[in-house]
Order: sequence, then C-alpha cells, then structure tokens
Amino acid sequence: MSSGVRLLVLGKQGAGKGTQAVRIARHNGVPHISTGDMFRAAASARTPFGLKAKEFMKRGELVPDDIVIGVVAERLAKDDAVNDGFVLDGFPRTRVQAEELQRLLGPGGLDAAVDIDVPTEIVLHRISGRRVCRTCGATYHVDKPPKVDWLCDRDGGSVVQRDDDKPEAIERRLELYEQETGPLLEFYEALGLLVTVDGVGDLEDVFGRVLDGVETVRQLRRSAPQAQR
Ligand code: ADP
Repeated sequence: MSSGVRLLVLGKQGAGKGTQAVRIARHNGVPHISTGDMFRAAASARTPFGLKAKEFMKRGELVPDDIVIGVVAERLAKDDAVNDGFVLDGFPRTRVQAEELQRLLGPGGLDAAVDIDVPTEIVLHRISGRRVCRTCGATYHVDKPPKVDWLCDRDGGSVVQRDDDKPEAIERRLELYEQETGPLLEFYEALGLLVTVDGVGDLEDVFGRVLDGVETVRQLRRSAPQAQR
C-alpha cells in the first residue's frame, strides 16, 4: 500500500482541471494520469485503439466505459502508481467508471476527489478561445496568443484549435459533463471524499485552495476512517 497521495480531479472542460492535476502530481511526486492525454497520444501514434478513441473525442462524445476502464486499470497497476500514488485527471467520468475505480482500489484506496468548480459561462469563454501547440500541448487563448504568428513560444510548433474545442463538440461535452460526470460529486460526497475548490482566479491561488482542501479531507478521514465505504 502506498504512502503518497491518491487523488482524482473533477471539473468541467476548461475548469483548469488538467493544469491543477499536473501541479498536484508534481508537488507530491506521483504520476499524473490523464485519460485525455493517453487517448490523444494513442491517436497521434495511430494505434488501432487510438484511432477508435479519436472518433469519439472528435465529436465530443465519451469513449465507451469498457475501453477507458481497461486503459486505466492497466496504468494503475504499474509500479509508480502502486508504490507512490497518483493523480487521476479525466477519470472517472461516469458512474460505472467511478464504481469500477472503487472496486479496483478497494476501501480507503482514494484520499480525495477534488472538484475544480467554475461557472459554465466562464468555461465557455476559456474553451472556445483555447488554442494548443500541436507538438508540446502548451495552451494559449485567442486573448493571449503566442508572440509570433501562432507558433508556440516554447518549441515553435503550430498552435491550433483542438477538434473537440469547436462549438458543436464543446456543447456536447458540457452536456455530457452535466449528465454523466456531475452526479459523481454526490457519489464522492457520500464517501466523505469530496473537496470542492473555487476554480476562478489566479492559478497559484486555486492551487493553494486545492492543497488546503485535500489536507482538510485527509485529516478528517484520519480522525473518522469509517467515512469510507
Ligand atoms: P476535457 O476534460 O476538456 O474534455 P480531456 O483531455 O480530459 O478533456 O478529454 C478529452 C476527451 O477524451 C473527452 O472529451 C472524451 O472523448 C475522452 N475521454 C477522456 N477521459 C474519458 C473518460 N474517463 N471516459 C470517457 N471518455 C473520456
């Protein structure tokens, strides 16, 4: 059993979930496990699985549960996750995935579920203007583009709009978030694991709130471990 943290991060598209997940993982020295990143990498490598996932992602649909669960189970079984812990980003996204994760980790297997809370009108502005570097994944916004001609400041790669950041796909992703992922807040609340963090404001401030929130829940659980089913 690992001594590091075992967390998952929830939040609407554009809430800054990925950015915060990377930071929490670095801060705790544990792997950052992003299902979206894994699917995009598989899609760029044109593996059969990646090409299949890409069809769903492009339309803003969820990749089917059995595929996602298989990929995550395999990743969580690796030594770093088993020994050190992990920060899951983008998983679970449905009730079936959440239940499967509980089964995989067993009781007490998760320290906290962090929800980065941002109102829909703000995330819509963030995602519709979001642009990403094709090579390194650095993100920009039309309000704050790279210095030269839509070429990445870091590595000169071309900075483009993700297919799933286009208007129809955004609408569908937010709708699915509300239907499928929103109810997970209650699921984790009932387990005494939910940490809700105000995701509006400076990245550093949000990060501070995340760390405080996680610490509070961990302490509460230490004093009342029976909260976890
Ligand atoms: P976002 O949170 O902005 O949608 P992600 O990078 O987390 O971005 O995910 C991109 C896409 O990958 C999703 O729209 C979905 O198609 C697919 N995906 C990622 N994680 C899951 C998951 N747990 N279940 C189903 N589909 C997923």
